[in-house]
Amino acid sequence: MSTLDADPEVAAGGGPGAGSRQEVTPAREAHLGELAVRRLFPLRHRRSIGGWCFVDHYGPASVDGGPGMQVPPHPHIGLQTVTWLFEGEVVHRDSLGSEQVVRPGQLNLMTAGAGIAHSEVSVADDGPRLHGLQLWVALPDAHRWVQPHFEHHPDLPRAEVGGLRATVLMGSLAGASSPAQAYSDLVGADLEALGDTAAEIPLTSSHEHAVVVTSGRASVAGDDLEPGRLLYLAPGRDALAVSAAAGARLFLLGGRPLGERLVMWWNFVGRTASDIAQAVADWNEGSTRFGEVPGGLPPLPAPGLDVARLLGRS
Ligand code: MN
Repeated sequence: MSTLDADPEVAAGGGPGAGSRQEVTPAREAHLGELAVRRLFPLRHRRSIGGWCFVDHYGPASVDGGPGMQVPPHPHIGLQTVTWLFEGEVVHRDSLGSEQVVRPGQLNLMTAGAGIAHSEVSVADDGPRLHGLQLWVALPDAHRWVQPHFEHHPDLPRAEVGGLRATVLMGSLAGASSPAQAYSDLVGADLEALGDTAAEIPLTSSHEHAVVVTSGRASVAGDDLEPGRLLYLAPGRDALAVSAAAGARLFLLGGRPLGERLVMWWNFVGRTASDIAQAVADWNEGSTRFGEVPGGLPPLPAPGLDVARLLGRS
C-alpha cells in the first residue's frame, strides 16, 4: 500500500506524550483512492514501536460494484510492508516480477531495502467486502540497504492462550515463531477470541507494544478499545491482560525500541533528507533502482518534495 496523501506528513521526533507508559490515541482519517482508512500510526510524538512505523486499518468496506483497492505502482525504500487481510483479496505485483494474490490469514511481506516498486489491486471477481491492515516495519540502519525481496506465507504458526487464538506474522509469541524474515527483534500477531475470553498474553518485557482492535471490542491492560484506537504500552511488561467477547479480533505489534531517528516521507523511510530527495529523484526519473511493475497501470508520481521543510523538521 501507499500513502497517497498530497501533503504527506514529515517525520518529527519527541514531543508531548513521547514518554507515556500507556496511552490510547485515535486514528486519523485518510483515503486510498475511494477507500477510507484509519491511519493509526505514526503519531507526531512517536515514530516507531519496536521497528513498526506505519499502521493503517481499512474496512470492512463494501467494494460491491466499486473499484476496491486500486494502488498503482509506487516505490519504497528502507522498510518492509506487511499486508494482512480479514476479508477480500488483493493482488500484489512488484518490480522483482512477483505476482501474488493475498487472502485472509496469509502474509505478504515485501522487503524494500535499497528500493522496490509494487502495485496492489483488488481481485476483479473478489467478494463484496474488503477488510485489512497495512503495516510497515522500518529496517534498522545496519540492514536498510539489503537487496529487495518478497515473501508469501500462506500457513503461519498459531498458539492458543486462554481462549485467544494467536497467529504469529512476525517474530515469536507464546511459543510460536513466524518463518518470515525480520531484521530486528520484533513481534506481530493477530489475536482472535474463540469464545468469551479473559487471557494473559505473555510478552517480552524489553519490548514496547501496541494493540489495535480490528473487530468488536476488547479491554486490554484496563483500556476499553474499539476499531480506530491504538493502545501504546512502554517496555517493562511480561504479560498483557485481554478481555473480549467471542469473535473480537485484535492485532498486537511490538519490539525492542529501535533507538534510531527515522525520516519518513511518502513511501520512503530514510535517515536523512538527502536519502529521501535521492529516492524521489530516482523514482521520478524511472531509475533501475526501482524497476518496472508489470500489470499496465501507470506509476504514481511522487508528490512535490519540500526539501527545506524536510530538513527543518528532520
Ligand atoms: Mn506500498
